[in-house]
Amino acid sequence: MMPKPAPQTRRESLSVIIPAYNEAQAIVPVMQELDKVLQALPLKCRIIVVDDGSRDATAQNAADAQCETPVRVIRFSRNFGKEAAISAGLSSVETDAAVIIDADGQHPPDMIPQFVKHWQEGYDVVYAKRAARDTDSWLRRNLSRLYYKIVSRENSFIESNAGDFRLMSRPVIDALNSLPEKTRFMKGLFNWVGFKKFPIEYTPRERIADESKYTSLVLLFRFGILGIMSFTTLPLRLISLLGVIVAGLSILYGSYIALRTLIFGVDVPGWATVVAGMMLLGGIQLISIGILGEYVGQIFTEVKNRPLYIVAEVVENDGQERQQAA
Ligand code: UDP
Ligand code: MG
Repeated sequence: MMPKPAPQTRRESLSVIIPAYNEAQAIVPVMQELDKVLQALPLKCRIIVVDDGSRDATAQNAADAQCETPVRVIRFSRNFGKEAAISAGLSSVETDAAVIIDADGQHPPDMIPQFVKHWQEGYDVVYAKRAARDTDSWLRRNLSRLYYKIVSRENSFIESNAGDFRLMSRPVIDALNSLPEKTRFMKGLFNWVGFKKFPIEYTPRERIADESKYTSLVLLFRFGILGIMSFTTLPLRLISLLGVIVAGLSILYGSYIALRTLIFGVDVPGWATVVAGMMLLGGIQLISIGILGEYVGQIFTEVKNRPLYIVAEVVENDGQERQQAA
């Protein structure tokens, strides 16, 4: 008799997590295309839509969508951000694997069978890698290139052009669910947990409606800072280095002044030098305190230990009847 595989290695069921924020228009076509793909798979499937506090009918439309696959809609009490939505989805997964896919139609669901194929061959993570960033503006493309260079200098935790569109096996999901931190930078955490990975190249589609939720450079910048702060202490070391350089330069300049006075006698010029020096040092100190402050702020959020998100309602829609739970 064949032994039954341990739950860790079973490869029979799949959940698809869709984080959605104000996607009332896109969510239904995305779910229906997904439904067709999932019905063709020899797996027990479930769709989990996490409504991240949308102000439109996203949650309602998702719960009412006509799908063969059972649907669960988790509605947040307010907008907690995509990272929190993904975390909520991952915590509610009961299946042997999970796929994360955007609600805006940019991620082609027809790649999922390929994900599943490589997963069943033994990979724990199968992820989509953007072939090229042609559709982005020149500024965004180059900023993102520079950014990944900085963050990946110290560690290879973050891979450029690899996003959230991925399949993860049960052990990976368990590992992610076990991470205690509150500042969640998923792109980094996905890689931090490790496991056997398989990349597949793809070109993102056009969005079904609207534009990116991260269009504002300010938002993107804050997200970027979060990535740096939660994965590297490089900025802290850079400011120490800067301190050493500035101190070294002042010792050199001081010796030069002392020598000049000894050789050529006293004169009293140079208030411009004093003012410029003071301003430079003042500026450097403020920047350094600011960087320290960012890290202290992160410790503050971790210590408060608030939940990552608050669920207002969970709706189960298994195709026939619907139950509601608070
Ligand atoms: N999203 C979310 N919460 C947010 C912002 C976005 O759940 O606060 C979802 C959004 O609905 C979409 C996905 O995250 O399904 C990616 O968002 P978007 O397409 O705007 O980002 P981009 O494609 O530019 O990465
Ligand atoms: Mg998108």
